[in-house]
Amino acid sequence: MQETKILLTEEEIPTYWYNVLADLPFELPPLLHPVTGEPTRLPPPLFPEALNEQEYSKDRYIEIPEEVREVYKLWRPTPLYRARRWEKTLDTPAKIYYKWEGVSPPGSHKPNTAVAQAYYNKKEGVKRLTTETGAGQWGSALAFGCQLFGLECKVYMVKVSYHQKPYRRVLMETWGAEVVPSPSQDTESGRRILAQDPETSGSLGIAISEAVEDAGSREDTKYSLGSVLNHVLLHQTVVGLETRKQLEKAGDYPDILVGCVGGGSNFAGFFFPFLKDKLEGKPLRMVCAESTACPSLTKGLYAYDYGDTAGVAPMAKMDTLGHTFVPAPIHAGGLRYHGMAPLISALYEEGLVEAVAFYQNSIFEAAVNFAQAEGFVPAPESAHAIKAVMEEALKCREAGESKVIAFNFSGHGHFDLAAYEAYLAGQLEDYEYPDEKVKEALKDLPKVAV
Ligand SMILES: *Cc1c(COP(=O)(O)O)cnc(C)c1O
Repeated sequence: MQETKILLTEEEIPTYWYNVLADLPFELPPLLHPVTGEPTRLPPPLFPEALNEQEYSKDRYIEIPEEVREVYKLWRPTPLYRARRWEKTLDTPAKIYYKWEGVSPPGSHKPNTAVAQAYYNKKEGVKRLTTETGAGQWGSALAFGCQLFGLECKVYMVKVSYHQKPYRRVLMETWGAEVVPSPSQDTESGRRILAQDPETSGSLGIAISEAVEDAGSREDTKYSLGSVLNHVLLHQTVVGLETRKQLEKAGDYPDILVGCVGGGSNFAGFFFPFLKDKLEGKPLRMVCAESTACPSLTKGLYAYDYGDTAGVAPMAKMDTLGHTFVPAPIHAGGLRYHGMAPLISALYEEGLVEAVAFYQNSIFEAAVNFAQAEGFVPAPESAHAIKAVMEEALKCREAGESKVIAFNFSGHGHFDLAAYEAYLAGQLEDYEYPDEKVKEALKDLPKVAV
């Protein structure tokens, strides 16, 4: 059989999410309260009860509500492609598969959780959600989810992206959201940071502080996070569950699973449904691809840190560059969060997943190579995964090994063409976050007793 894309029917959309907490061979360190330092649940004024339950549940399977599956049908199941043309370009004996999440209306994997979160908030009577967004993908996914379930949505968008990516803002506004550049004058934490540094380019950490403060100050409002937390990773497992079925249909089992990691949600959703196989002895490799400009796994410290810059969000034990991290404005490749999902961090510390970091010119080079073979233009984030796959495929060529490599192609780059333009014009500078800066930022880590 020479299928290019392996498809599933609507009935084959998973009916449950897979909860990896049921199968972990270790206990995940708890979240800690930002002020008391005591183990804490997600702060209830910020999150609905259903998501708080999912955050800590040890049930292996959690049912996907019918209303959520109904919305998933707009773009799920997503296709799994065999990258035959790219394999030829790379002249590799490896078999390469990609799970294509760019077919969702917002263009990435993010609505898999945005839709679920909007649903649970609506069900518990919430009227309005706040969130932060960097490049704009999460903001647009939440705007989309809120629109479908009739919720208001306010997005604090990192200032540098707000100005560099006006079209993402327009997309969010088209789905009815209000968007402001962060730091903004709308919150205490925004005003404080602007007073210190009026020219700041903003950061995800700062935008999180603003969105959290906003939600905390209004009865009708809750906060929504697009990555990092366990329940977000849980919702993304629809991706890996579908992929398993599709690979079975293709008659293959992966040797290597690859994904890019910002906060870790798309890759977690992709590989969690395979993790049990690895724990039971399958020689499966999981490779996280990150940016040298924001190397939380490869250069960060595994320690308790705040989820945001102002220190109002709970502390999580994770691989972190320090909550005071501000990404270099010359970095165009996405994946800018200072921390990493506690689940991915713990698996990395246990040696169950690997990590590699790439310079931005090399990821755009890989993205262009891929786009010229397969057609799809990757989001810069996804391009990190593509670069990692390329390296593995070239290793297979040298070794004459026909491995099966599957990666999560998390989204399209149609709103990132300015970054492509800069790359094609030779104007992108490679940037490696300096070791001294890591050391400096880590001095500000909270002191915790645990
Ligand atoms: C947000 C985003 C990422 C990074 O976030 P994760 O939580 O690590 O998945 C990766 N790819 C795309 C296309 C994104 O929009």
